[in-house]
Amino acid sequence: MPVPRPSALRPLQGDAGMAQPANQQRDNTAARERMVASQIARRGVKDPHVLDAMRQVPREHFVAEGMAEFAYEDSPLPIAEGQTISQPYIVALMIEAARVRPGDRVLDVGTGSGYAAAVLSQIAGKVHSIERHGPLADAARRKFERLGYGNIEVRHGDGTLGWPEAAPFDAILVAAGGPEIPEAMRKQLKVGGRLIIPVGTQGDSQELIRVVRDGEDRFHEEDLGPVTFVPLIGAQGWTERQADGKPSVGRIWPRQPEAGPRPLAEQVRQAAEPLPDFDDPAFGAMFDRFADARVVLLGEATHGTSEFYRARAAITQRLIERHGFSIVAAEADWPDAAAVDRYVRHRAVHVGSGPAFRRFPMWMWRNAEVAAFVDWLRARNGGVEPARQAGFFGLDIYNMNASIRAVIDYLERLDPEAAKVARERYGCLTPWQRDPATYGRAALTTGYAKCEGPVALALRDLLQKQLDYEARDGESFLDAAQNARLVAAAERYYRAMYYATAESWNLRDRHMFDTLIALLERRGKDARAVVWAHNSHIGNAAATDMGEARGEINIGQLCRERFGKDAALVGFGTDRGTVAAASDWDGPMEVKTVRPSHADSYERVCRDSRVRRFLLDLRVGQWPDLRAELTKPRLERAIGVIYRPETEMASHYFDARLPEQFDGYVWFEETRAVTPLPAEPRPGVPETWPFGL
Ligand code: SAM
Repeated sequence: MPVPRPSALRPLQGDAGMAQPANQQRDNTAARERMVASQIARRGVKDPHVLDAMRQVPREHFVAEGMAEFAYEDSPLPIAEGQTISQPYIVALMIEAARVRPGDRVLDVGTGSGYAAAVLSQIAGKVHSIERHGPLADAARRKFERLGYGNIEVRHGDGTLGWPEAAPFDAILVAAGGPEIPEAMRKQLKVGGRLIIPVGTQGDSQELIRVVRDGEDRFHEEDLGPVTFVPLIGAQGWTERQADGKPSVGRIWPRQPEAGPRPLAEQVRQAAEPLPDFDDPAFGAMFDRFADARVVLLGEATHGTSEFYRARAAITQRLIERHGFSIVAAEADWPDAAAVDRYVRHRAVHVGSGPAFRRFPMWMWRNAEVAAFVDWLRARNGGVEPARQAGFFGLDIYNMNASIRAVIDYLERLDPEAAKVARERYGCLTPWQRDPATYGRAALTTGYAKCEGPVALALRDLLQKQLDYEARDGESFLDAAQNARLVAAAERYYRAMYYATAESWNLRDRHMFDTLIALLERRGKDARAVVWAHNSHIGNAAATDMGEARGEINIGQLCRERFGKDAALVGFGTDRGTVAAASDWDGPMEVKTVRPSHADSYERVCRDSRVRRFLLDLRVGQWPDLRAELTKPRLERAIGVIYRPETEMASHYFDARLPEQFDGYVWFEETRAVTPLPAEPRPGVPETWPFGL
């Protein structure tokens, strides 16, 4: 069984957490239960037959190879022949709309992956499913046989003509959009029968129509709302040529109607405050409105966009210089950030610690934009007394090895006997040090967490001697204790990766939050911090799929709960451009093209405002009408250290309610990739400079 790496974990944000190890056998009952509760029942589907059927069918068997980890995401996914498996919600919505009852005879047009037919088969007596692509029909037939769905018959053919030999039907469901309602389908309905079909000739969207046969020659139609489906191609649908250019992977989702007297993008345009250049003092000044907060959290929609780093640097400089903020806490590994901190605060360097941030994803912190900020911070700190200097700290847990080394080095200096004991305790993790993710698997197979006790004891030993150690070297104690805490948290994290989807993410974010609190406490009751982390960490998770569909928390949510209005959550977004990212975990950095944003996304609304760079103030009390409109869920894009434009919809978009997620939103319509710094330090450069350049 291949070992899951943090990337396989969560291409969605790309930086950590895990959807699910792709080929790990596991019971997905809980994932289905969550899907039904959060994606289907919550949106108003009530029919108990439908909800039950959705709980039964294992969607992971119907998605394309390699996509199992996304099986319970709230989106359609690409399958073979350029087609899609429908979003779970639309499958449920259509079956409910068709009022399918036990024993019914049903025609399913557009077998695709076979998922909708499988769900139907849990309710109906017999399902006839027809697909125009032979390979899809064959694959579905084999799948039904293998999974034991005995009441489904599959045919390769043109579904616009129905299935005359099997007619009449109690219900017909069509999973592709045609220009009009095919006559053949009307004819093949029983009296009282229901036909559900997307119909539309404008652009790439349709209206979902219910046709009910009231009598031999009497029908009535109802419009169930706008949707986006792949084209229905056939004798009574589109021709192949007409269908050419229509999207093959559409989001099948009733879209938000544009509400309000003015289009939403126009309302955004009114509220948008254009941003000046980064080096104009007016840039930072625009964020003074957040400066009363105890914690200002600055996000990013990718881990490799120059504008996001430069904007955060300009805002942070202002918060430090004008408003007394003294902590910069980044989504970076603690030991690496500690090297930067020693540099910016002009403190003694730990000889032999080596340059910082040389672990994947190196470009995330080892880049020219961060280097410029770090240089500024060092120069600024040089002119103020130590108590007023601002520090740079890492909240993340990935560099466990460096943390172990740092604890032992610290003890070597202060208490060599204790160092010996610590080395022994951490020795438990030695076999897994090269690849800590494998530790989780070992813990799972042996059935117990071998190293949990020893690493907890190492932390306890250190904390027990806090007074003694601190009296000798106060600043370094915080560093050592934080490293020891990190090892304990990382041990739990790597184990949790193998158990549950949300748990490992939550452990990591909880650790980041605890570290932030420890930093604030250390600096006293007036201390204030700026956090630099991905939107997925600093936006309130409770207002997104993360919280609602997956039970995940994050730093933003924990700060909101702890500090209320004294936490300011600022998100960042972009429409298109380039980004530094990898295709796979541990893969090389590439400069990738960011696709223009999806039509149903917040990003598209911002782009349509035609203001190229702006700040949107989303705090309660500001722009109430706009806030109300923006609170209706839309898609939002998250690009992490991994970007896969080819599966963008499934791997990078999620649902959010922007004004509940953020207090402010910073927009750059077009952005470019960060400038990475070389991995190797330049020969002869003193070790004091953390990037060795
Ligand atoms: N219900 C499917 C599932 O759950 O995976 C999703 C189907 S996909 C959105 C639509 C399917 O309709 C595609 O596989 C496409 O090939 C098929 N299709 C389009 N026109 C068709 C036609 N005239 N007859 C049969 N299938 C058709």
